[in-house]
Amino acid sequence: MKKNNKLKLLTVSIITIVSSYTVISNRKKEEKLYKLAYIDEVTKLGNKNFFMQKGKEFLENIKNKTNNYLMVLDIDKFKSFNKRYGHQKGNELLYTIGQILTEILSKEAIIARLANDAFGIIFESRNDIEKILTEIEEKISKIKIENKEYQIYISLGAYKIKENEKEIEKILDKALIAHDKIKGNYNKQYMIYNETLEKEIEKEHNIELNMQQALENEEFEVYYQPKINVKTNKIEGAEALVRWKKEDKIIPPSDFIPIFEKNQFIIKLDTYILKKVCKDLEEWKKKYKNISMPLVSVNVSKEHLTKENFKSEYESIVKKRGITPNEIEIEITETATIEKDIISMIKEIKETGFTISIDDFGTGYSSLSMLQDMPIDTIKIDKIFIDQINLNDTKKNIIEYIILIAKKLKIKTVAEGVENKKQVEYLKKLGCDFIQGYYYFKPLTKKEFENQMNDR
Ligand code: C2E
Ligand code: CA
Ligand code: CA
Repeated sequence: MKKNNKLKLLTVSIITIVSSYTVISNRKKEEKLYKLAYIDEVTKLGNKNFFMQKGKEFLENIKNKTNNYLMVLDIDKFKSFNKRYGHQKGNELLYTIGQILTEILSKEAIIARLANDAFGIIFESRNDIEKILTEIEEKISKIKIENKEYQIYISLGAYKIKENEKEIEKILDKALIAHDKIKGNYNKQYMIYNETLEKEIEKEHNIELNMQQALENEEFEVYYQPKINVKTNKIEGAEALVRWKKEDKIIPPSDFIPIFEKNQFIIKLDTYILKKVCKDLEEWKKKYKNISMPLVSVNVSKEHLTKENFKSEYESIVKKRGITPNEIEIEITETATIEKDIISMIKEIKETGFTISIDDFGTGYSSLSMLQDMPIDTIKIDKIFIDQINLNDTKKNIIEYIILIAKKLKIKTVAEGVENKKQVEYLKKLGCDFIQGYYYFKPLTKKEFENQMNDR
């Protein structure tokens, strides 16, 4: 071979080697970039970019497939898990959940981590959807990480994709609506989106839009339901119950209180109701000098009780109207008392002088020893027990026990939701102190209540 030719060959081979190197290293760079842009380091699954991109492609290619779902899933109290077991374990939990999802769902499923502890999944369901969701819930609830089992709760919202739906963002929103609805529910961990749900959410949304204005417009009105002293047969107390008067309609509390408890607006509303009650009491005291005032009770939600300035605020509202705290009774539901800091809170409120009542008694989980530890004045026996009186059920015995124990502890008893004579007679026989219910009175407007007081 000529020298010149040899050189040529060498140059060509060098160029080939160098260029193929460049191709390889470019490919690696691309891979790296792809990973950065689309892969989640912790779970080794896709990230949100990946999810949106693949989701779009999935929707574009859907043909006559009817069982496609998009779902979002997150871990309840993931922050507490991290705090308790450390970040590393938290990451392992995320990874393992990703693995479980991959195992349960088909190979073609698009699984991604959307943010912190939230996963997004698009898949074709080849089985009964409820079965799949239950399986996911069950497997995750007893998750094993390095042979140790952890109890994990999730919230999962699913949406069944319609055939010609193409917008991934809208579909994701609907799964999120179902997810938000189930979040914080401990009886069930998943929800499949449906139209009623959407209407309900819209209603909730409307209530939230209007609540502040309604408060300013004084649309919330206090009704008073009398409590009758069983011995004297006279009205000696009343429960303040809110009604929302919108245009000519009356919206019952069951429609808005749960929403206000979620968004904390209940704090504003309850404070407002107390102010109204105190104003009314001040007025009645001036107007009816010869009548002893009824003990008026107001409902207070758990969210409110744990607020730092609750006690001082309530105290100052009452005193501004020249009312002593013991003229107002605070009703706290039994379920609220389970939490430790609430018990010490109750003690503080009692020290301020307010009268304290435990509402819906018998439906929560407080133990008898708790009753002993709490400085309470009254318990209200829940309506479900009163309803049993007609049935000669064994639950009748429970009322007997409650009243017996209350007497021993010098706690007064109020029976709630009493609707007929048979119930009244039975409660009288047991020595229940007060009766509140439709048998005597429904909740009355301020005017109606005043008239009743006058008739005593
Ligand atoms: P609750 O505190 O257990 O109030 C008793 C409920 O039972 C009232 O319903 C009352 O109207 C109803 N009731 C009384 N007697 C009878 C009866 O004989 N038969 C039947 N079927 N029902 C009877 P309401 O006024 O609709 O209030 C529902 C719930 O809303 C209340 O339950 C309470 O938890 C909440 N709530 C009402 N007003 C307020 C408020 O101002 N603040 C807060 N935080 N919650 C309130
Ligand atoms: Ca109550
Ligand atoms: Ca009650």
